[in-house]
Amino acid sequence: RAFGNERTKNPSKCGLSLSLRRLGVKSVEIRKPEQLQDVTSLIIPGGESTTMAKLAEYHNLFPALREFVKIGKPVWGTCAGLIFLANKAVGQKTGGQELIGGLDCTVHRNFFGSQIQSFEEEISVPELASSEGGPETFRGIFIRAPAILEVGPEVQVLADYTVPSNRVLEENVEAERKVIIAVRQGSILATAFHPELTADTRWHSYFLKMTEDTGETEEASSNLVPIQ
Ligand code: GLN
Repeated sequence: RAFGNERTKNPSKCGLSLSLRRLGVKSVEIRKPEQLQDVTSLIIPGGESTTMAKLAEYHNLFPALREFVKIGKPVWGTCAGLIFLANKAVGQKTGGQELIGGLDCTVHRNFFGSQIQSFEEEISVPELASSEGGPETFRGIFIRAPAILEVGPEVQVLADYTVPSNRVLEENVEAERKVIIAVRQGSILATAFHPELTADTRWHSYFLKMTEDTGETEEASSNLVPIQ
């Protein structure tokens, strides 16, 4: 398969299955609610959260997704996936956006601005280094990325980010403030950036350990990709 070509068309899909394969895990795409019964864990990738919500609504996925989260099966949301898992989303164009919820936080949907303001930066994640080894830093790839503004008491902050004062952000967002970019709440993992676009599979491995911790070791991890 020509991953080079696929990356430009659909980076999340291609990078995600590749990262999982590197760890010896087979993934399946979830398109129907009943498929969720056959998988042990779920990755909700990046994309565009309102489109994902519309498609999830159209395919009647919301009840099954909410049940999946509620019963404590491991779920990892990256970027739009994070927004989709949040209890509350704020920022421009968030009105009426349906969310799965479950992750006790308020997320700003386009905190880091538009597509052209996307950026890459080394971020510090002590938990990743202690759990998976390697350096404490991780290459964060932020694509039209959200940021978490507030978390509830059950949420463990895995990484935060101080916005440089010269960074242009979406209107009405203050620079030089500290935001949260990676969290865990029990069986929910969420990252504002895209680990699947790096060759470093430590986040994937961390998530697979979460799956093992819940005793769900037999089945492979699965992923939900936005239906094009
Ligand atoms: N900010 C986007 C949204 O609202 C998410 C971008 C991404 O997933 N790379 O859905």
